[in-house]
Amino acid sequence: MNSLPKKLKILGYTYNILYFKNMLEVDPDGKEEFWGHVSQLTKQIRIYDNGDYFTMWHSLWHEVGHVITTLFHLDDSEVEEDNNEKLMSLKAKYIEKMVDAFALCIVNVCFDNKLEFNKK
Ligand SMILES: [Zn+2]
Repeated sequence: MNSLPKKLKILGYTYNILYFKNMLEVDPDGKEEFWGHVSQLTKQIRIYDNGDYFTMWHSLWHEVGHVITTLFHLDDSEVEEDNNEKLMSLKAKYIEKMVDAFALCIVNVCFDNKLEFNKK
């Protein structure tokens, strides 16, 4: 794997990947600064391009993690119906940490084993 992809097929779905030099542009609404963003509806992944390949791959794998947790319904919640906001927000935080740990581990293994992630 030599380059940051413009498309990625994840479990049968093809996602277009866009890179932005401005963190505000990563947010489709342009309101918040994001490292990455994924829309399941439009199948679009948006990544902040800060020129650092480790960081960009980390962001990309992070968004792939969100795709996977969504496709496996890991971020669905039975408590949603109970409107238990505290539990919902705890679950969201847990999933965010899990997804980020997953992403960081993948990128670390790739970089530590000198898999080529140095081109765009
Ligand atoms: Zn996230």
